[in-house]
Amino acid sequence: MNKIFDAHCDTIYELNNRNMSLDKNSIHLDVERMREYDTYIQVFAAFVDKEEISVSPMNHCLKLMDKYHSELEKSGGMLKAIETAADLKRAAESGGAYSILSIEGAEALEGNLSALRMYYKMGVRLITLTWNYANELADGITESRGGGLTGFGREAVSMMESMGILIDVSHLSERGFWDVAECTAYPFVASHSCAKSLCGNIRNLTDEQICAIAGRNGCIGVNFYPEFLSDSGKCDISDIVRHIKYMLELGAENSIGLGSDFDGVECLPHGINGAENMKDIISALSDDGISQRIIDKIAFGNFYRVFYETLSRGAEN
Ligand SMILES: [Zn+2]
Repeated sequence: MNKIFDAHCDTIYELNNRNMSLDKNSIHLDVERMREYDTYIQVFAAFVDKEEISVSPMNHCLKLMDKYHSELEKSGGMLKAIETAADLKRAAESGGAYSILSIEGAEALEGNLSALRMYYKMGVRLITLTWNYANELADGITESRGGGLTGFGREAVSMMESMGILIDVSHLSERGFWDVAECTAYPFVASHSCAKSLCGNIRNLTDEQICAIAGRNGCIGVNFYPEFLSDSGKCDISDIVRHIKYMLELGAENSIGLGSDFDGVECLPHGINGAENMKDIISALSDDGISQRIIDKIAFGNFYRVFYETLSRGAEN
């Protein structure tokens, strides 16, 4: 089986900045390279960086979503959007390249719950509640006060659960994480985070957080960013394997996946240049003695399961 499910990339943001195209490009990910695999499902984030933009967060988010939809159209069916559980099932059965739209940074709601329904209609099926800073929902991980979910954040999270939008806690403050764990009932994910016990970067997850996500049947996308993989910042594919094996030791077999962060990071581990190297990560896991059954879950099955459950709650199902 040669199936990949990657829970996070910033390729749309990068394509928009550089005026490039998704079908074929020189950055980390394009449709041509996705199609080298039997099935490749990619979650594409509309990354709302309020430090960098001159327009409002919602305006910026809409611009990126327009780029996403125009790239889908341009692909002429080579890349297909997944918006329902039935779409997802079809993707796994038929093979090819598929996309799921997400938002990274819920400042894109601009404090307005009715924006959630609009974003859902545009195809958004996962929202990363914060980037590193505070927004109307919660504090991001670099906010020194470390606040949790606000009242509005709690309302938004509960509405996301009932609509079938997956909650993503990567970048969220630790208190925010535990608030999400407390006030939600369904699986939630950390789309692009690693293990703090192996690399002390504040963006990484403690053992307790990893076990809480696993205990909820959620999923963690192991991030390929060298700063999150090793304290020295120097690393290769074996460091990705190391984080995966550590989470396996914690008993998270059903909750480990891939969250490359392609095109959201300025460098990648030695041996990885982009989507073409996903197969090398799979080979490295196999060479390390991890069974094919577990590799299939990590490369595809675990995120597939969580998205399938979430999308099944959506209005179209
Ligand atoms: Zn990120």
